[in-house]
Amino acid sequence: MANPSVWFVTGSQHLYGPEVLKQVAENSAKIAQELDSSSDIPVGVIFKPVITDPEAVRALVLAANSDPDCIGLVLWMHTFSPGKMWIGGLSQLNKPACHLHTQFNAELPWSTIDMDFMNLNQAAHGDREAGHIHTRLGLRRKVVVGHWSHTSVQKQLGDWSRVALAWADWQGAKFARFGDNMRFVSVTEGDKVAAEAKFGFSVNGFGVGDLVKFVDGASDDSVTQLVSEYADLYDIAPELATGGARHDALRYAARQEIGIRAFLEDGNFKGFTTTFEDLHGLDQLPGLACQRLMAAGYGFGGEGDWKTAALLRAFKTLETGLLPGTSFMEDYTYDLVQGEEQVLGAHMLEICPSIASNKPRLEIHPLGIGGKSDPVRLKFSSRVGAATNTTVVDLGHRFRFIVNDVTAVEVPEMPNLPVASALWKVHPNFQEGVAAWIYGGGAHHTVYSYNVTSQQVRDFAEIANVECLVIDSETKLNNFKNELRWNEAAYKFNG
Ligand code: MN
Repeated sequence: MANPSVWFVTGSQHLYGPEVLKQVAENSAKIAQELDSSSDIPVGVIFKPVITDPEAVRALVLAANSDPDCIGLVLWMHTFSPGKMWIGGLSQLNKPACHLHTQFNAELPWSTIDMDFMNLNQAAHGDREAGHIHTRLGLRRKVVVGHWSHTSVQKQLGDWSRVALAWADWQGAKFARFGDNMRFVSVTEGDKVAAEAKFGFSVNGFGVGDLVKFVDGASDDSVTQLVSEYADLYDIAPELATGGARHDALRYAARQEIGIRAFLEDGNFKGFTTTFEDLHGLDQLPGLACQRLMAAGYGFGGEGDWKTAALLRAFKTLETGLLPGTSFMEDYTYDLVQGEEQVLGAHMLEICPSIASNKPRLEIHPLGIGGKSDPVRLKFSSRVGAATNTTVVDLGHRFRFIVNDVTAVEVPEMPNLPVASALWKVHPNFQEGVAAWIYGGGAHHTVYSYNVTSQQVRDFAEIANVECLVIDSETKLNNFKNELRWNEAAYKFNG
């Protein structure tokens, strides 16, 4: 998108006369301008003329629907704005919506307040009329409450705008699968037709031979140039360095990166999957290439996991304007010391270096499966702090998001573990958090992020109209199991 923006839409009516409407427009334009320049909001905020009749709502919504740069609407009723005039337009809206419940003034002017002031500043009841018609129409939206100048309000608007941006990025996005998913695996399967209808992105398979052509087509000069870029960015094991006994393996890994990138650019793909069971014509399972392409913003899923690849791409978009810190991840193994239980997350190779706490080191080790040459990979440990793990699963008749708040902790030295890793503690605690994930049918593959919050996953699922289960510090396992039962019924009625 050239200029992704939200449209700032103010509601009013003709009842108050032109003077009041002029003031409404001035106030709204000022708010939109301030939000546009807020460092917490990474997209443009565009003021739109004040809405006073049904025709204007309809015209605005149709324009928003068809403007590729418009990622959503922010709605606010400065005065009262009768709800019925919004029905025709809002019922056509196909972009995300956020209802900002605010007021132009922060403090009431106690010594001068009169009925003119009261008539001008009516969001307290005008926005309730709006909320009623939104609910009546079944309009899925985010509601943000508070004065527009407050940092907490701008941060919420910013978080939501990132969600809307990720949603916009998914619409029409294309994901490439090299080969199928890992044989017999359940959770990485899914209905790609249903996903496209629900989420807006398409997933299609390609023979690995199509990719091999791009890999083999990379020029020696471009490989040499990329290897020197690696030397600037990473520590390199001596055997892989120039003149080292296995330098050719590093050159081949660079060739894979160039080839996959060229394939993705050629087909305008936003992400991809690989599988170690289908590597015909490739010397190594791509490890380094997947790590580097994730860091460049591409979605990726191992073993044909296209749902996670798409989710990773969405989360990469969500990080717009932030220090990146999001990766493909797998719950690998546990440390079950009583009362201190923690999860060691890793993958065979493909963890994104955007989550690294130290300078990654290029190494080469045997893989043990796949029957190919030893793959090159970046090894590092991950940062500490608050993070989330998110999965999207296909339940057969619908999709479900599950997100778990976790706290990443220091990874101890593991000299014999040849892959990048992260270590975290699960909220609310290991027993209940992991049990909830398993009851919910959550995958072993996730998107792990230091930036995307569980609230944003909720908001993203709201836009998609898909169930979202949150496992956080407030989760109680028995309530969670009830939520599963109730949701089962709710989504039956919801279609
Ligand atoms: Mn895996």
